[in-house]
Amino acid sequence: MTHAVTLATIHAAAERIAGEVVRTPLVPSPTLSERAGAPVFLKLETRQTTGSFKLRGATNAVLSLPPEARKVGIAAASTGNHGRGLAHAAARQGLRCIVCMSALVPENKVAAIRTLGAEIRIVGRSQDDAQDEVDRLVAEEGFTAIPPFDHPDVISGQGSIGLEIVADVADVEQVVVPLSGGGLFGGIAAAVKALRPLARMTGVSMERGPAMQLSLAAGRPVPVEELPTLADSLGGGIGLDNRHTFALARDLLDEVVLLAEAEIAAAIDHAYAAEQEIVEGGGAVGIGALLAGKLTVSGPTVLVVSGRNIDMALHRRIVSGAWEETPCPA
Ligand SMILES: *Cc1c(COP(=O)(O)O)cnc(C)c1O
Repeated sequence: MTHAVTLATIHAAAERIAGEVVRTPLVPSPTLSERAGAPVFLKLETRQTTGSFKLRGATNAVLSLPPEARKVGIAAASTGNHGRGLAHAAARQGLRCIVCMSALVPENKVAAIRTLGAEIRIVGRSQDDAQDEVDRLVAEEGFTAIPPFDHPDVISGQGSIGLEIVADVADVEQVVVPLSGGGLFGGIAAAVKALRPLARMTGVSMERGPAMQLSLAAGRPVPVEELPTLADSLGGGIGLDNRHTFALARDLLDEVVLLAEAEIAAAIDHAYAAEQEIVEGGGAVGIGALLAGKLTVSGPTVLVVSGRNIDMALHRRIVSGAWEETPCPA
């Protein structure tokens, strides 16, 4: 099956965003290599500007907008890593960026997005209310909404990570990618499989709401119940009208690994204690899969460590051993 995202669109994206995003370090991990019995590397998107890889896709999407759209600006309802990436990318290009959020979003999240240069619009009391305002800005004022994962420009931007992985570890045998909506996975997989067809692509999600895994098992996108998880940046569904990332995962994913909450906490702790990296839950799941013995490692393996934006009080609890699992309200 042919996809809108190809090695060519990924190369073009990488060229477009070079100079706007950090070419992040890819470092060997002696502790994880020792444990796995094979070379293990960390691709540190924790060091990306705005604290996650999402800046890559956001920047590529912003730079790909036609001139008329650039004149008006972009709108989004994300208060997480996608919102941060968009706010920064838009500010860098001198575009207006309106981030809509509900009155229930905590002040520190509001401040983080505002600091990056976005206009904040507080509407209603739910994410749906915020999204309604985005839809209105698009329909009535001509703003462009850039989705967090299911868009060829976004996926191609994330795919630039795949090019860097193959450039840095030419004999890579396996790439392990945090998996939610699948933009990160789809982009990296499209690049890596085109350059190293025999490399294995593994996705890692949390047991609490693994949207892509449930959708793949059903053969079509299915709704998932959102549950509290340490991997909060992996929460949410893949969209029932998914157009790109479901097909990419179906065609390019070799295996999905699911983690329990305690395994995600262990990964955050290991990243800090053994690698001296502050990593958020969603970013640490590759490390967690390896530590839990849930990965088959037979050769050079790259774990994509996708972000660092964790609540620091929670991080302190985890690395000091004071974190306890909250029971799942299911
Ligand atoms: C968004 C995000 C992911 C998942 O990316 P998808 O493209 O939705 O699969 C993983 N890690 C972090 C830190 C993220 O912000």
